[in-house]
Amino acid sequence: MEMWLQNAGLSLAPQKTEAALVSSRKVDFYLTQVLSGHGCFRHNLKRFGHAEKYWCPECGRSIVEDARHVVFECRRFARERHRLETTAVRSIPPGNLVEVMLENQMLWDAVAFFAAALMQRLRSIEQERR
Ligand SMILES: [Zn+2]
Repeated sequence: MEMWLQNAGLSLAPQKTEAALVSSRKVDFYLTQVLSGHGCFRHNLKRFGHAEKYWCPECGRSIVEDARHVVFECRRFARERHRLETTAVRSIPPGNLVEVMLENQMLWDAVAFFAAALMQRLRSIEQERR
C-alpha cells in the first residue's frame, strides 16, 4: 500500500498544509478505495480468492488490474479520465492525483467523482462476472 500511496502522490507523512486540507474535505468510500488501492481491483480479488486472474480483462494478460492501472492507464476509463483532466486542465500522470485534488474544492470534488465512477463501474463489472 505504501508504494501505491506514493504513486497516487500521497506521502505517508503529509506536510502540515496537506493534512489541514485533507481534514477539511470529505473522503468518501470510493475515494478511500482508490487512494488506498484496496478496492475491487482484480489484483486484490485474486489475492483473496474472489477472481481467478489478476490481469485486466480489457487491456490484456500482461497488465495487472490494480489501482494504478485503473486510475491512470486502463482504456475502459479513458472517458472518465479525460473528463477529469479537462476539469483539471492538465494530464494527470501517476504521482499527481493527490496533488491535483489538494489544489481546491472543485478539483477535490472532481477527483472524488472520478473515483466514484471508476469504482461503481468496476463493481458492476464484477457483479456481472459472478
Ligand atoms: Zn485495463
